[in-house]
Amino acid sequence: MLPDHISPEKWARFKKAAEQYQTPFLLIDLPTVAEKYQELRKGFDFASVYYAVKANPHARILKLLAELGSSFDIASVYELDQVLAHNVEPERMSYGNTIKKRDDIRYFYEKGVRLFATDSEPDLRNIAEYAPGSRIYIRILTEGSEGADWPLSRKFGCNPEMAVELAVLAKKLGLEPYGISFHVGSQQRHIDVWDAAIAKVKVIFDRLREEHAIHLRMINMGGGFPAQYLTKANEFSVYCQEIIRFLKEDFGDNPPDIILEPGRSLVGDSGLMVSEVVLISRKSATSLNRWVFSDVGLFNGLIETLGEAIKYPLLTERDGEAEEVVLAGPTCDGMDIMYEDYKYELPLSLEIGDRLYWFSTGAYTTSYSSIEFNGFPPLKSYVLD
Ligand SMILES: *Cc1c(COP(=O)(O)O)cnc(C)c1O
Repeated sequence: MLPDHISPEKWARFKKAAEQYQTPFLLIDLPTVAEKYQELRKGFDFASVYYAVKANPHARILKLLAELGSSFDIASVYELDQVLAHNVEPERMSYGNTIKKRDDIRYFYEKGVRLFATDSEPDLRNIAEYAPGSRIYIRILTEGSEGADWPLSRKFGCNPEMAVELAVLAKKLGLEPYGISFHVGSQQRHIDVWDAAIAKVKVIFDRLREEHAIHLRMINMGGGFPAQYLTKANEFSVYCQEIIRFLKEDFGDNPPDIILEPGRSLVGDSGLMVSEVVLISRKSATSLNRWVFSDVGLFNGLIETLGEAIKYPLLTERDGEAEEVVLAGPTCDGMDIMYEDYKYELPLSLEIGDRLYWFSTGAYTTSYSSIEFNGFPPLKSYVLD
């Protein structure tokens, strides 16, 4: 059955385009990306959107978002070059990675970028030296990763006390303490975690103003908005409604500048990954579950099935009676198994050589694909205009 968010028309378009190519590959429906961008702009009309390039750096996606007026959250000099290739002004970019080399900071500064994330004193001192006078925002830890299907929070951010100290130090070092950022974890299904994060930011804003006469002006609320996978999340409109309410509760009618850094929610649903069944087998004559091996696996596009974190809607063109299977990839690595605990049901009539269609695979697939593990090439992608 088609997932709810795929209309028969869209499916027909995908199918037709897919016929031209050899598996495995990803199709990206650009109109869907544009739609998602407009939906976000409408839902948060007061916010600036910085697309998290790592979700899918395809040149056509960058070009489209650049033309639509998006800004970009960039994590490396390589991503910076990719975005610069589309004539995006440096005022529309932030260096959002808190882990950076001095040379990289210098490179961003030379290219005109003046907005930097930080969460530690050594990094802040490097920014002061190699990107003097720039605006900085301090990333705070968000508590726990509950509700996020792909958590990010433990590695990045500092506690609020340290954020206050870093803002004070930033000012001393000639930088402009500009705001606070957080990321509630990717594919975050618990909307309440934004409430807790915004409340923490409010405390930091107040303390800096009252104790240090530092007036922060921006909150970067990161990403975390959902794509449509098998584990359901609320409608995007519910996220908007709730998060705007949280902002109002803490900041009244005069909220600071708001930055959003969506990755997954902008590009996830635009993708259809097409793979082929390489082998169907059983481990013994009496074993209940068949193993279905596909020509995409964890190393060439499906890394987010690690720990069965993300469950993509999956379709075959066979029908009839279905049976629970184990789904695995094509490489010689034992961890290249997508789903074993969670059992997908696939038709008994499924045969070697049949195509498998993986929906909502536009984010964190091609960009996470290995170069040539076992000689398998990186996942190719093609766009639909
Ligand atoms: C990965 C990342 C994002 C994007 O998160 P999504 O959950 O994909 O929207 C945004 N901001 C930062 C700093 C990130 O590292």
